Amino acid sequence: MSTTGRSARRLDRAPLMTNHLRIDGSYGEGGGQIVRSALALSLVTGRPVTVDNIRAGRPRPGLMRQHLTAVRAAVEICAGAVMGARLGSLSVTFEPRPVRPGSYCFRVGTAGSAALVLQTVLPALAIAGSPSQLTLQGGTDNPWAPPFDFLQQAFLPLLNRMGPRVTASLERRGFYPAGGGQFTVTVEPCAQLAGFQLHDRGPLVAHAVRALVANLPRQIADREVRTVLAKLGWDAPCGTAEQVTAHGRGNVVLVELHSQHVSEVFTGFGRLGVRAEHVAADVARQVTDYLESGAPVGPYLADQLLLPLGVSAWQTGAADRHRGGSFCTVPLTRHALTHIDLLRRFLEIDIRVAAADNGKTCCVSLLPP
Ligand code: ATP
Repeated sequence: MSTTGRSARRLDRAPLMTNHLRIDGSYGEGGGQIVRSALALSLVTGRPVTVDNIRAGRPRPGLMRQHLTAVRAAVEICAGAVMGARLGSLSVTFEPRPVRPGSYCFRVGTAGSAALVLQTVLPALAIAGSPSQLTLQGGTDNPWAPPFDFLQQAFLPLLNRMGPRVTASLERRGFYPAGGGQFTVTVEPCAQLAGFQLHDRGPLVAHAVRALVANLPRQIADREVRTVLAKLGWDAPCGTAEQVTAHGRGNVVLVELHSQHVSEVFTGFGRLGVRAEHVAADVARQVTDYLESGAPVGPYLADQLLLPLGVSAWQTGAADRHRGGSFCTVPLTRHALTHIDLLRRFLEIDIRVAAADNGKTCCVSLLPP
């Protein structure tokens, strides 16, 4: 898959190095995020890891195609050693080697989320010694995963605020179940991720709703745009309905909110048997909840910012305790709480969560050990 040399090693048995970490993959939220984040942190720290009980509580436990692609991507960018990298596997052991920036193509092979594969390798490549170019193939607009527009407009600008320059460019959308999407990412790394403080979103400077359909009647998108505009009290020029090219059918509603200090993207997906108005109303509700909360960081962005901010705190080290990062967000999801536990164990950093008196927001601080 890569254009760089050395092939991966297979481990015949789990290594018994003293700093080898064992993670229970069924803990907390118990989903694929534990595997991806464990691999990402292993790549960053060089610490070998075993994740057991992978997705144990899910209807189809073990590694699915998207998770397996993430494991293989982690192995590939460092020619590391791996055991248990197969579909359905309940346990994976990964022993990283130094990360090799370069040109890579990662193919999920199904409609599984390509953005989630990116999440696994991006932190290590963002602090590597030279640039990388990545091509990611699979789903770009999946329910329960970061859609491409969220990645590009909400997540990457904040990652870039930490020092690297990461840009993403969409070539073709991939919807469930056909997949077949593709985007490219260029990574100009920085040696040390800088933390940031994000406690206030500032005034809203721009907002828009876009409804996209692929191989479906355009009137679905028109109805979704009308519904969102009506629910949010926005004017018609803020809405666009678009036909897009994709391998199969698909429909997504995207609301972009650009505030002075942060951008957020909220999403809804059309499904067979669910009215367009219902899909649109659900997105409008997410937007209203976010705007009313006053928090700059929404629920998905919160769980995804934890890892880079945690790495920043870890890189800073004990010598500079006043550094680190913090942000205000809505009450933490199980994903975020599970992520916090994982970061504490892996990086031994100090993470504090302070709930606001009204219970509607909280402030998360990630501080050096
Ligand atoms: P599972 O094991 O449940 O199949 P998975 O491997 O597909 O899970 P999760 O562990 O559930 O993935 O993690 C999903 C990730 O996608 C989380 O980081 C979450 O923040 C992100 N996410 C989900 N929905 C959205 C959305 N609408 N916008 C942005 N990010 C999202």
